[in-house]
Amino acid sequence: MFYLESLIVRLFMISQIFQVGTIKSLLTDVCLGDVSIEELTKYGNFGIGTFDYLEGEMIILDGIVYKTEPNGQIILADTNEKIPFAAVTFFDSQLSFSLKNIENLHSLEHELLKHFPSYNYIYAVKISGNFSNVKLRCAQKIENKKIPLHEHLIKNQSKFNLTNSKGTIIGVWSPWYLKEVSVSGFHLHYINSEKRVGGHLVDFEMANLDVEIMTIKQFTFQMIGSRDFEKANLNQHMQDIISEAEKK
Ligand SMILES: [Zn+2]
Repeated sequence: MFYLESLIVRLFMISQIFQVGTIKSLLTDVCLGDVSIEELTKYGNFGIGTFDYLEGEMIILDGIVYKTEPNGQIILADTNEKIPFAAVTFFDSQLSFSLKNIENLHSLEHELLKHFPSYNYIYAVKISGNFSNVKLRCAQKIENKKIPLHEHLIKNQSKFNLTNSKGTIIGVWSPWYLKEVSVSGFHLHYINSEKRVGGHLVDFEMANLDVEIMTIKQFTFQMIGSRDFEKANLNQHMQDIISEAEKK
């Protein structure tokens, strides 16, 4: 009976994004979550996010939750850890194609956008391939809570390059009208095929890629049950700050 119930829940959730927190709550200094990784993975086996105090980039692939160290090295996340921001789904490839000699991230995004049937849905993308160069960044743990989180993010992140890397881009594209809740546009993380190194994808050079796309028409949003979330000023306009923090 329990198995049947969980199967039904999973079938129901197969084409939904489940998101914890908002990009705005994160940048309004709500950097502690109340949902654990164990709970999060009930809602998806694929996704991206971050950890309490921004301690590393989160990459979820085939149900395994990876966490980056400041130097980009990958460790397995502790299932008891809490998360202030993440977006997950049960990945189901609905459209797949190959791309040869893609020069950089901008060119890839341009190709992906051509394949999206509408700009009003959410898309999960899984892109595997060989890259001549991958440029990544990793957030560093917040040690001083007095610095606004968006400033911390801009000043305290490690950036590094991988040359001749084989790996997978994991990400989500959200429409502009969800910009106050999700990261509008592409939010992409990368993990190499050995699962040793990864991070937030900044750019890449020259790649041959196998692309898989999933269209998502259902969005579940879990607000954070905490005093920080209750007190955060989420009704202020801060799109410039969001754009600055996400793009740098
Ligand atoms: Zn990221």
